[in-house]
Amino acid sequence: MFALTLLLALPVFGQLRPGYVDPKPVLAAAERAIGADKVRCVTVSGTAYAGVVGQQRESAWNVDWPRIDALENFSRTMNWEAGTMLERFERAPGKNPASWKYGQGWRGGTPLQQQRKQTFAVNGRFGWHVDGEGPPVAAPPEDAERWQLDLWLNPHGFLKAAKLPGANPKAVWRWELGEMGRDGHTTAPEKMTVVSITMFGKYRVDATINPRNLLQRIHTWVPDPVLGDMNYEHEFADETYVDAGNGIRFPTVWHHHDGWDDNFGALNVSAGHNGFGGKLDKVQANVCPDAVAVPEAVRRADHAVKVETTRLAEGVYLLGGGSHNSVAVEFEKYIAVVEAPLDEARSLAVIEEVVKLIPNKPIRYVVNTHQHFDHAGGLRTYMHIGATIITQWKNFEFFNRDFLNYAPRTLAPDMVSLWPPTELSEGYQYETVRENYVLADEKRSMHISFVQPLQHVEGMLMVYLPKERMVIEADLFDPPGTGKATAENKALFDHVRRLGVKVDTIVPVHGRPVAWNSFATMFSR
Ligand SMILES: [Zn+2]
Ligand SMILES: [Zn+2]
Repeated sequence: MFALTLLLALPVFGQLRPGYVDPKPVLAAAERAIGADKVRCVTVSGTAYAGVVGQQRESAWNVDWPRIDALENFSRTMNWEAGTMLERFERAPGKNPASWKYGQGWRGGTPLQQQRKQTFAVNGRFGWHVDGEGPPVAAPPEDAERWQLDLWLNPHGFLKAAKLPGANPKAVWRWELGEMGRDGHTTAPEKMTVVSITMFGKYRVDATINPRNLLQRIHTWVPDPVLGDMNYEHEFADETYVDAGNGIRFPTVWHHHDGWDDNFGALNVSAGHNGFGGKLDKVQANVCPDAVAVPEAVRRADHAVKVETTRLAEGVYLLGGGSHNSVAVEFEKYIAVVEAPLDEARSLAVIEEVVKLIPNKPIRYVVNTHQHFDHAGGLRTYMHIGATIITQWKNFEFFNRDFLNYAPRTLAPDMVSLWPPTELSEGYQYETVRENYVLADEKRSMHISFVQPLQHVEGMLMVYLPKERMVIEADLFDPPGTGKATAENKALFDHVRRLGVKVDTIVPVHGRPVAWNSFATMFSR
């Protein structure tokens, strides 16, 4: 799709097509305006915020991603010559996965952040993080690639990237009214040039350059298991550029969107957007003290998906081996799987394992506990294999419009986008649950119920197997826990009491199964 768009810009008989302009003088003027040719590296520092992409409380009509804590003493060193970026900040421990920086990449169930001081680094295709003074931990390749992209999504980075082999700049002009939320209402549009380049042979990145030759918006798309090709952009206002000496200028206010800045829900049901930003008003150019060498453990890290199976009861299997479990339950004529977490790679590996464990029966249903992206990212894979999705009805509109659709996915095409299934257009790939739902045959039943009220999320389902006296739950209790009951723990305890059912075992999506009694002691005082 993008390749076609770029082809149209090719000159016909030496002329640019209508709508296009020559990018060369525009880029040269932009370079002069901020001294981009004199810069090897820049360090910015200040206070930033971090939006948790995909951890929204409600699936519908969010205006913003949640912010759990500020990033204090934030600093970022961008070294375009070396292809490295080093970010350091302080954040309260115990609230976020240690592997998560900001924006995309939140994976619940990874070790929680233990120390205040956090370090995130990328060098080429390797990314890693350090919790306090601990050992470096490799980031998943998709995170590392996005961080490497981030190195270039700022004015100096973009202008340098535009000169790299394969960048192939193209430019168009337009009149722009700007971002209403940021710029206010205006009726005087400005004439802008938008220059597009290709990065890493894959990402089409564009920069909006204003009449004062300043880059004010740098935009691209990044792949996301839930939202597909997801809008990803940084915005910089003219008045925030400061002089860093030697004619080098750099913006000091960062404003970043993960997803469209869609305050009125015009485009999406889920319109969370601000993933990162802040006032980074200390700017140092060409002071590049930190060598960011790739640690050996990071270079050697194995990112292969591992599935480890535990038989919990007859016909009930826990599929673990990663940060999120799934549970396969065998019925007489079909299989039901509880939870399709993370992404397609995880889900395909789990599905292959389930097919081996229980041959000759279809996976007829997949139960989704809630719409957080790390718990829902595999649902499209189950749709691909022909399973019906059981979810709480509050999630339906978001799933239907933004997630489980036929929209093309160009950056990381998945099974559904490559082989669009017929069920989707027929509209029978869902069962939505209001309060209670039962899957049953003569030998077994599975009771699915709506858990509320919850701070964590709206539209949470829990699964109960009466014969095995097992509860299958996500995020309500992550064993072993801290020994101190959280609001989610209390909600699980109260919900089970309200149902009036007997529970022997909690089978969590994060962690290993535990006895109900060891959990319930927290409430027996
Ligand atoms: Zn979780
Ligand atoms: Zn969650």
